[in-house]
Amino acid sequence: MLSKTKQKSRWQLAAVLSTLLYSGIATCHQDHSHPNSAIKQAAEFGQATYLGNEAVMIEHGDTKILFDPFFHNSYGTYQLVPEAMRQAMMQGQPPYDNIDAIFISHAHGDHFSAQDVLTYLTRHQNTWLVAPNQAIEQLYRFAEKEQQDMAAIKARLVAVPLNFGDQPWRNKVNGLVVEAVRIPHAGWPQRADVENLVFRVALADEGTKQESNVVVMHMGDADPDDDHFRPFKAHWQRKVTDTAFPPYWFFYSMEGNDILTEHINAKQHIGVHVPVNVPKELKATGKQFFSKPGQQQTIGNGMTKQGAEDHHHD
Ligand SMILES: [Zn+2]
Repeated sequence: MLSKTKQKSRWQLAAVLSTLLYSGIATCHQDHSHPNSAIKQAAEFGQATYLGNEAVMIEHGDTKILFDPFFHNSYGTYQLVPEAMRQAMMQGQPPYDNIDAIFISHAHGDHFSAQDVLTYLTRHQNTWLVAPNQAIEQLYRFAEKEQQDMAAIKARLVAVPLNFGDQPWRNKVNGLVVEAVRIPHAGWPQRADVENLVFRVALADEGTKQESNVVVMHMGDADPDDDHFRPFKAHWQRKVTDTAFPPYWFFYSMEGNDILTEHINAKQHIGVHVPVNVPKELKATGKQFFSKPGQQQTIGNGMTKQGAEDHHHD
């Protein structure tokens, strides 16, 4: 299984390299709709940057999205987004400029601040928000309390109206192909009322703005119970995810690991929501996780940095 994956990524690297060699010819054709166009090859990969708790920025060419970027509650345990990073995001300073969309997994204090998100969307008129109803309602309540006008941002709010057991939700948002499934919050059946979303997002290609093959999955605080994931088998199978970001507790049980490897159809899993004091048990799993703001990982086509290095040493 492992060597098969390795072989596949070698083949893909060879394909990318050979296409790059011929990119001069491809550019002459100006055939941007062709799947092997130079534009597509030049921006083949995506990059994930860790910000804190479950906050991750994903970039692919000039497409950028943020998951759970603004929150203030660490519950004394989890990694806050460092203040300098939060300010840079809020001001739209590079590399946090030109964000296409913000995604909210659920409206808990370690994932979402209504005030920050409202301020951000008011300042950044090209950024859309995709969030569960509960987060959108909090935004409206906050705006009402502060007597803030929602007129400037209303059109860019996309509420995901999923009830427990509903079929997956799909929409195209600002060039992104967005899908969401409501998976209960960890601790089920407690907190059953929490609208926790598992997002699968295909980023857009630079230039053409067509759906790319860079696909990520953010799982929020999903409960690692097979019963939640099995009913959506067809959804997971429909599209391959390059990198999924499960909460680290998925690595702790056989059931959680099975969901990642057997169900969700992702090539790579990077744990998030890791406590500041990284548990020994987590290190012992040998799994990949983000725990320090600023950590980065190349994603897309299963071509991780590790994979590229493997090839190099052959
Ligand atoms: Zn949480």
